[in-house]
Amino acid sequence: MTRMTPLLERNEQFARDYVFVPLGPPTAQVVVVTCLDHRVDPAAVLGLKLGEAPVIRNAGGRVTQPVIEDIAYLAFLAEQLFAGQIAADRLFEVAVIHHTQCGTSLLGDPGFRHQAAAATGQSEAALEAAAVVDPHVTVKTDVERLLASPLISPKVSVSGHVYDIDTGRVTTTVDARYPERPAGSAGQ
Ligand SMILES: [Zn+2]
Repeated sequence: MTRMTPLLERNEQFARDYVFVPLGPPTAQVVVVTCLDHRVDPAAVLGLKLGEAPVIRNAGGRVTQPVIEDIAYLAFLAEQLFAGQIAADRLFEVAVIHHTQCGTSLLGDPGFRHQAAAATGQSEAALEAAAVVDPHVTVKTDVERLLASPLISPKVSVSGHVYDIDTGRVTTTVDARYPERPAGSAGQ
């Protein structure tokens, strides 16, 4: 017995009715970036099914350098593998979703941040920058960060949203838009 035992039983149920999903472009044409919080699962909140949308999660749902690199790779993959199946000038939309009552908001407190720095090996400045105190503010920051990255394909659009833990509702804070660079300049 491990803590996984009941979950593996659920997987047994899942596998019984499973239908193979071949590798193809994400059918929702969306890549979700969101918090790892267990109350913020996009499969539940957005009703995502297998094959619909890749999901990248970290503390806060922040657009960090590794997130930018993952998105650059997904765009590269989409162009390499699905060229005939998707619009040549449009790959997917990245939806950045931050949420209210995020656990990272505790990092807004200097004393808590000081202790967290010791526990995680990260600098206090890095932890302060990672905190989602007001998701409406941080989601805008992160959309801009992604749009400004030279690694992001001009064929990828970016939008920003906030998930309200109290109501279960997602509202759009930043409408989808493309980087302001000519097509073909990604990675140059
Ligand atoms: Zn969170």
